[in-house]
Amino acid sequence: MDAVVVGAGPNGLAAAATLVRAGRSVHIIEAADEIGGGTRTAELTVPGLLHDLCSAVHPFGVASPLFADLPLADHGLQWCHAPLDVAHPLDGGRAGLLAQSLADTAQAMGEDGTRWISTFGPLSQRAPELASEILGPIVHIPRHPEALARFAPVALRSAAAVARRWRTPEVRGLYAGVAAHIYRPLGQPLTGSAGAMFFAMGHHYGWPVARGGSRAITDALASYAMAGGATIETGREVSDLADMPAHRVALFDVGPRAFARIAGNRLPGRVRRAYERYRYGPGAFKVDLAVEGGLPWSNPEVARAGTVHLGGTFEEVAASEAMIQRGAMPHRPFVLVAQQYVADPTRSVGDTHPVWAYAHVPAGWTGDATEAILDQIERFAPGTRERIVGMAVLSTTDLSRHNPNYVGGDVATGANDPLQLLFRPRVGLHPYDTGIAGTYLCSAATPPGAGVHGMGGYHAARRALAHLER
Ligand SMILES: Cc1cc2nc3c(=O)[nH]c(=O)nc-3n(C[C@H](O)[C@H](O)[C@H](O)COP(=O)(O)OP(=O)(O)OC[C@H]3O[C@@H](n4cnc5c(N)ncnc54)[C@H](O)[C@@H]3O)c2cc1C
Repeated sequence: MDAVVVGAGPNGLAAAATLVRAGRSVHIIEAADEIGGGTRTAELTVPGLLHDLCSAVHPFGVASPLFADLPLADHGLQWCHAPLDVAHPLDGGRAGLLAQSLADTAQAMGEDGTRWISTFGPLSQRAPELASEILGPIVHIPRHPEALARFAPVALRSAAAVARRWRTPEVRGLYAGVAAHIYRPLGQPLTGSAGAMFFAMGHHYGWPVARGGSRAITDALASYAMAGGATIETGREVSDLADMPAHRVALFDVGPRAFARIAGNRLPGRVRRAYERYRYGPGAFKVDLAVEGGLPWSNPEVARAGTVHLGGTFEEVAASEAMIQRGAMPHRPFVLVAQQYVADPTRSVGDTHPVWAYAHVPAGWTGDATEAILDQIERFAPGTRERIVGMAVLSTTDLSRHNPNYVGGDVATGANDPLQLLFRPRVGLHPYDTGIAGTYLCSAATPPGAGVHGMGGYHAARRALAHLER
């Protein structure tokens, strides 16, 4: 066997696909009973209703240079777009709205539209170049310096500084909701990077969902890899390097602390210490709902959006993000909602629809955020509770049990603090190398970080291929 991949999340399977494409033999070992990691889809509430357990909406999946290069459509992956990408409702029925079209978005923004175009227009025009630059290690020789020169002034600043460009509460709120994907206090440097990336990719590629559920993404990667001869074993957790079948290279879709335990004293001391110091971020508390007739939003436009961010004004979102960072649970947390069925009606049964929602909560928080999430939804969609016919809840503890990579419920597999944004999982020129010859990390703890794009797996596989060719 040329390669063993441990973990069948999108990065592990992307690594396997990259190795198979290069003609290598690959065996994949997955701890869970099914593949997919953070892209699994299941009937959690009403029979037939398809709920995404973790990832839901994929602006980086559709922008991924690797996914675009692989024939994933031939293996069942189909992207579906909602009429609007994102809505950010405010009290009183107002809402910030994001369409894939930059011009349509700006037009609806009134006085803020011109600055929206001047901020994100140059980035979205260069989205393909940007994707190849930023979906990988930060330290590299740029092939598109002009695209990076446009990106840096927005990305290096704090989200709070970038938000000063806009005046209306709707646009500032819309910006806050997307910027908050970084899971950091919005006044910190580099927190502008999430907004810069999401708006650049979103205005170019949109924010699609995968037809039939997010699992279609990893099912397609696995199908491609197996068509090239890869084999997959589920229900087997690798807890020691000694348990691995014979191999020439190994790639681990796991977090650095877990890998330090798996590798034990085979890991060079300096690498082990760096992995043990790796920092995790705040957690997620998730609620999946079955809703009769969909959510009754006060602003009907919100019903047309695939993604809805609930948290009120920029200042409110910033305050709740700062609180969770300090370990305190806000009364009104920032809540992300996905209405995948708006883009992909196959998720629903008749007029009963699956609604995906999670709140940002402190790391490892053990409380119950169900009511806080429902209150935030009711705030902008009064009457929601009467329409709920099924519900499933995943706490931070459930999430980390469901997937060992989500330590303390951290769905980003690591804190996006400034140092780890630039260098993860440790400071060095080769972030995928573990210091053990032929053994690599490829999870979202490596660049470019969280999200379903497979680029951590791709870059780690490139390192592994270089080792095999030596
Ligand atoms: C609630 C939630 C919402 C999200 N929303 C989005 C979204 O809308 N869009 C988006 O792009 N991303 C989203 N994400 C993030 C995205 O799911 C992850 O960033 C992505 O799945 C990371 O991929 P990965 O391959 O690195 O790891 P994972 O997907 O976490 O997969 C790792 C796999 O490795 C396995 N594994 C771990 N340790 C071992 C071991 N020792 N032996 C064997 N197997 C092992 C695990 O069981 C798992 O299957 C979300 C995540 C969550 C949880």
